[in-house]
This record gives sequence, structure tokens and C-alpha cells, in this order.
Amino acid sequence: MIDLIAEPPLADAFHRPITYLRISVTDRCNLRCVYCMPEEGLPWIPKSDILTYEEIAEIVRAGAKVGVRSIRLTGGEPLLRRDLDKLVALIAAIDGIEEIALSTNGLLLAEQAGRLRDAGLTRVNVSLDTLREDRFFAIARRPGLDRVIAGIDAAFAAGLTPVKLNCVVMRGQNDDEVEAFAELTRRRALAVRFIEVMPVQENVGEHTGAYISATEILDRIRAIGELRPVDGPHGNGPARYYAFDGAPGSVGVISPLSHDYCNTCNRVRLSADGRLKLCLFGDHFIDLRTPVRDRAGEDALIAILRGSMYVKPERHHLDVGQTASAMRALSEIGG
Ligand code: SAM
Repeated sequence: MIDLIAEPPLADAFHRPITYLRISVTDRCNLRCVYCMPEEGLPWIPKSDILTYEEIAEIVRAGAKVGVRSIRLTGGEPLLRRDLDKLVALIAAIDGIEEIALSTNGLLLAEQAGRLRDAGLTRVNVSLDTLREDRFFAIARRPGLDRVIAGIDAAFAAGLTPVKLNCVVMRGQNDDEVEAFAELTRRRALAVRFIEVMPVQENVGEHTGAYISATEILDRIRAIGELRPVDGPHGNGPARYYAFDGAPGSVGVISPLSHDYCNTCNRVRLSADGRLKLCLFGDHFIDLRTPVRDRAGEDALIAILRGSMYVKPERHHLDVGQTASAMRALSEIGG
């Protein structure tokens, strides 16, 4: 294979190769999950500040030249952005990009899964915190569990696999469903991933009470069946995976607070308004929209990407009940 990397690949000051770019395509969402956004929403980014698909593709092209290989589209809710398949097709045509994944709440997935796959999407993560409709409304402040389930089925039918389910576990709100979620993996090739709720400005007051550690979540699952550690489904992430004997699926835990996995960080994030965010829980941003709109060109973008590597911090400093960032909600950057 021809080496597509024109220059040395990106690595940060701590020698971590950066190969993964998560792109938020909108900060708007059609849910209002209690741990994420206030009921009335947030002050949205003005439409004129949001990167166009061409502008996003220009940044990805520069990233691909210096070693970015995996892309994830996220939000807000990315499927709210019109014709997302057009962005997928633009990115899929970029030399060096090997994988394009999507994080979605699944509400609009059933109608878009086939088109996205045809455009070049490779796999999907669906966020789902409960299997009960009444609770879905209590957590997401909007109805729609049946649509999310239809979206998951459509993802399987479209071959957007492995399908991963992301479940944020909160004490007293949905932690009694951990076992039911884990049971799904005995019947379907789902990777169910339990995520510790993270403190952001929006929830920091309630965070301490809702927090439940990945260790406790795993102990609960072990009480219903023996778990053996397994290799995770293909991905870029920090999850640790386990499976029940003979189960087609797996359970994983993502524990940003209780386990430090910053030493294997391989990613940076692009906000919908074109800021490169270098750590999920730090306020280290580099503006890419201005050089893109000033037509600075690919070499200049690559130089900025390289410079940003010195701004990426070694680790986050998250603690239970405290946030390490001015970020109001993960919807601003897509998790
Ligand atoms: N709307 C898309 C979705 O639902 O996947 C993408 C954006 S959403 C912000 C990405 C993920 O972040 C979701 O799985 C959501 O549950 C999770 N999330 C949001 N706020 C969180 C928090 N405070 N702690 C842990 N996970 C959070």
C-alpha cells in the first residue's frame, strides 16, 4: 500500500499517536437527557458559525495527511443535521480514512441507516439509558423508546456493525436495569457499554448522588452470570469488555472517573463551530474555523494541527462531584 502520510504522523508531547478525530456536526439535540442538557436547551451556536460539510471535509483532509484514520460523527444529535449522508460521502472519499462511525440517540436512525451505510458509514453507537418507556421520558424528557429500538434494528439490518449501545448509569434512576441490559448480550451481538456519569457544569450539583462506579456495575453483572474478559469489538475506545459464556454480545465499562486511561488517549475533537478540543475535560481549544474560512490552505492547517499537539494535556483532572472544565454539557462537543 502507498504510504499516504505526507509528513510524520501526529503525536502529542507525551508521544501518544493521534489517529482519531471525533466531529460534532451540531450542538442541537432532540432529547434533553437530565445529566446532559437543561429542559429549555442551551444557547445554541449561531448557524453561521457552524462548519459546512465542505469545511469539515477540508479539516479531515488535512488530518488524514498527518495520520488521522478514524472519524466519529457526533453532536448534539448528528442525525438532526440535514443530509448527513452527504458529509459521510465526502469523508469516505478522503485518502487514508479507514473508518467512519456515528454516535446517535437513535431516534432518527431507522429512516437514515441505509442511506448512511451506502454513503460509507461503517458502524454506529446508539445511546440508550433505559429499556422502559416511562423511564425513557423521565431521563430524556422526550418520548421515543420504540423509535430507538427501531433504529437499533435498522442498524443491524444495514450491517452497521458492531452495534454498540451506550448506557449512562445513574444511581437511583436506572441502575436497577444494568442486569436487563447485560442480558441483551446473551441474545444479540450487541456491545453494551456502561458509562460512568461524568460531571459537567449542567449536572455537577446532582452528580455525586448519581455516580456509580464501573467496578460496582461489573459486580452487579457478575451476580447474574460469570464474565470473562474478551477483546472488544473493533473500535478506538477506552472500554474494557467482558462476555457471558456462549453469548454473542459483550458488556463493556467506560470509567473516565474511576480508571485513568488518559495514557492511551488517541483522539482529539472538533466542535460544530470549528474548534479543536484537545481533551474532553479540559478547556484547551484551537480555532480551525478562522484559517479554513480565510482559505489558509492545507499546509497551514497541518501546521496548526501539529502545533495543537503541544497544547494537548497529559491527562484530565476529573473528580466525582467536580468538573474539570467550563463545558456546560457534553452536547457541546459530543462526548
Ligand atoms: N446525541 C448523540 C448520542 O446520543 O449518542 C451524540 C452526543 S451525546 C452528548 C454522546 C454521549 O454522551 C451519549 O451516550 C450521552 O449519553 C453521553 N453523555 C452526555 N452527557 C454525559 C455525562 N454527563 N456523563 C456521561 N455521559 C454523558
